[in-house]
Amino acid sequence: MSKNNVTKVLLNDCDIPRQWYNILADMPNKPAPYYSPRTGKIATPDELSAIFPMELIMQEVSTERWVDIPGEVREMYAQWRPSPLYRAKGLEKKLDTPARIYYKYEGVNSTGSHKLNTAVPQAYYNKVSGIKRLSTETGAGQWGSALSLACNYFGMECTVYMVKVSYHQKPYRRSLMQTFGAEVIPSPSNLTNSGRAILAKDPDSTGSLGIAISEAVEDAATHDDTNYSLGSVLNHVCMHQTIIGLEAKKQLEVIDEYPDVVIACCGGGSNFAGLAFPFLADKFNGKNVRAIAVEPAACPTFTKGVFAFDYGDTAQMAPIARMYTLGHDFIPEGIHAGGLRYHGASPIVSQLYHDGFIEALAYGQKAVFEAAVMFARTEGIVPAPESSHAIRAAIDEALKAKEAGEEKVILFNLSGHGYFDMTAYDYYFSGKMEDVDYSEEKAKECITKLPKVDA
Ligand SMILES: *Cc1c(COP(=O)(O)O)cnc(C)c1O
Repeated sequence: MSKNNVTKVLLNDCDIPRQWYNILADMPNKPAPYYSPRTGKIATPDELSAIFPMELIMQEVSTERWVDIPGEVREMYAQWRPSPLYRAKGLEKKLDTPARIYYKYEGVNSTGSHKLNTAVPQAYYNKVSGIKRLSTETGAGQWGSALSLACNYFGMECTVYMVKVSYHQKPYRRSLMQTFGAEVIPSPSNLTNSGRAILAKDPDSTGSLGIAISEAVEDAATHDDTNYSLGSVLNHVCMHQTIIGLEAKKQLEVIDEYPDVVIACCGGGSNFAGLAFPFLADKFNGKNVRAIAVEPAACPTFTKGVFAFDYGDTAQMAPIARMYTLGHDFIPEGIHAGGLRYHGASPIVSQLYHDGFIEALAYGQKAVFEAAVMFARTEGIVPAPESSHAIRAAIDEALKAKEAGEEKVILFNLSGHGYFDMTAYDYYFSGKMEDVDYSEEKAKECITKLPKVDA
């Protein structure tokens, strides 16, 4: 096979990585430790063990470069992994670019996004530690679907607090979670103290990821047989996702390619981490490769936020982390890429951005949907609104290459498909979609409420 005639590169079951890559082993500056929201001091493993199993807490702080993937997890991965790597021939032709564009397609599992890559190991580690139920939040619904399926695999119960605006925008996501046996609750709800507090202030609150996280954490903290599970942001989640980049590297090797630039959208940072970290490992060794995280203009965590300690959630129950943030009570406008509406970002990705190893870009949703539709019409896959942020940036890189007459190699992560997001496409086609900018004033005010820690 050569890069000139390749449309896709497939690998076999035996090529599924046996280990995840832990970038903490190689980063020049490590992220700051987590702090307890109660004491303002460094969070102890004991505090974290109220909501997480010990194995995941150990992974969170591990500095081992390679961490073994358990056999049972690898077996489940084999249902949809290795995922295909495509060359975007149709898109290249449409753009008339000398750039070669590749994408790793993570929508090939039954829940339609990369999130199942971490849902399965998280459910597994909780199961073997004797936990009966997992609680979690979901924005657009992809994470909730993934965890519902993973819990179902391992015979566990699953409770999903779903951001209210998405609950109504995406009723079929809710049905999907129920199909896999989960209980789905619109958030804010009146089932938790955090939910009730929000509703008392604003009965019409459409919710946010920060609020839903508070509800799910409270549920786990107040039930012995229940743990909490997070679909992004945390170090162990980013590490589980590195199978994406590890596979992509192998696939590109088969056709003797190496990317000049890797691109992924960024909500909490996990699909970006998953694709980019294995390439950044080479960058730490002197290789010349760029990595771009793409975020929505309505929630511009990296491009407009501050690098500071902040709570992971609105009700200040989740650990405090140093990250790029717009403030824990910043509630972004209800844009269609629900999975990118998080006020903060992965502490590791934040540190890498702070240290200049990666770049960030923000786009408005109209430019993003224009790219999504062009991609659908040239590649035949309807992309998730979140993933379409990466497509927009990949297109712009390809157009720059055209202007410069450069043979650039571009790799992006197609983190999921958009077949549950047709309402969003409908908005776009009917001309009702608007570019909602973030409110600088609101963010400025939110940033005055950052916590003080004993650092
Ligand atoms: C959740 C989601 C994202 C954003 O989350 P990250 O942790 O930043 O990857 C991106 N794309 C899809 C399809 C998602 O479901």
